[in-house]
Amino acid sequence: MSRYKGSNEQIAGYSAKALSLMTERQALPHPQNYALWYGYAAGQPAQLVKALDTLIGSKQPFTEEIGQQLADQHLESAHLIKVTTQINMNLEKKAKDILDQLEDMSTGTSQYGKTLAAASGRLGAAEGIGAIKQVIGSLITDTQNMAARTQELERRVEASTAEITALRTELAASRQEAMTDGLTSVANRKFFDFRLREDAMSAMEVGESLSLVMIDIDHFKRFNDTYGHQMGDQALRLVARVIADNVKGRDTPARYGGEEFAVILPNTALTDAAIVAEQIRRAMSKRRIMRRDTMQDLGTVTMSMGVSQYRPGEQLQHFIDRADAALYQAKRAGRDRVLSELDLE
Ligand code: GH3
Ligand code: MG
Ligand code: MG
Repeated sequence: MSRYKGSNEQIAGYSAKALSLMTERQALPHPQNYALWYGYAAGQPAQLVKALDTLIGSKQPFTEEIGQQLADQHLESAHLIKVTTQINMNLEKKAKDILDQLEDMSTGTSQYGKTLAAASGRLGAAEGIGAIKQVIGSLITDTQNMAARTQELERRVEASTAEITALRTELAASRQEAMTDGLTSVANRKFFDFRLREDAMSAMEVGESLSLVMIDIDHFKRFNDTYGHQMGDQALRLVARVIADNVKGRDTPARYGGEEFAVILPNTALTDAAIVAEQIRRAMSKRRIMRRDTMQDLGTVTMSMGVSQYRPGEQLQHFIDRADAALYQAKRAGRDRVLSELDLE
């Protein structure tokens, strides 16, 4: 598997490191946890390393729940690959069924053609009403058989076609799932990377502007520490919803990492992107986080944002870095604000 690169010694080293970290953290030694810690030991994916570093840094225990969350977010979902492969195999089989049935149908038709030709010969040679009646009688039987056969085949082709349609819908759903963040339902990091590349390319082709907003929740660790991880997750879902509600059309809101979001804004220049960001910031500042069971009001969550505009031909990383730099300047300047690359010192 190309995901696991390195010499034999390196791989053995990563494995040993992963196992000792798992023992240290009391992570249950099942394959999914191993895949997470192996990835951490091998230094990729970078977002997973960052997430586990944060976890280790904050001295949070590595629970099954967190493990599952990290796997959902950062591991190439083996499950999805399996599902998609299965659907593809089913589709192939159904398509072959239909071809077989069509072939049966055409065999039946050509046989019927021969029957007709033979009957016409026999009719020509038939003498007397009795013989003619006999030929016509057998012709009627053959015709009825042919009609029944055709109907049955049509029914089977229809059924296979319906199954193919269902399988295609399933395939589309599983593709959708592969691009979506499980917790917040906005695009995941993988789709963000893909979309940014596509949007940058088409911005260059068409000569349109393209902007990017990077968003980071303020003091979110404190929020988690005060109200618990579950309330933190609820806040993340609300933030994602508010972001998604305040963008439109070709814009792509995405979960960039743990508590970081991003919005790609095609056909949008820097100042307009900053206005969109400010709208999101303001909309979020009006939303109060409620603990559902007790209806306790946990107050508001604020966000800092950085905005950059794409410079045609530049590396995408530079485009992201400028938005990130503006975001961190917004943090330093007191948080709960939007700054753009023009504000960079
Ligand atoms: P700052 O204002 O400087 O951004 O402070 P911060 O506390 O938000 O920043 P920091 O990067 O130190 O902490 C991010 C925290 O976000 C760490 C972790 O507790 C939390 N976090 C990251 N991902 C998740 C998640 O999926 N669910 C929950 N509940 N919390 C998360
Ligand atoms: Mg952060
Ligand atoms: Mg933060």
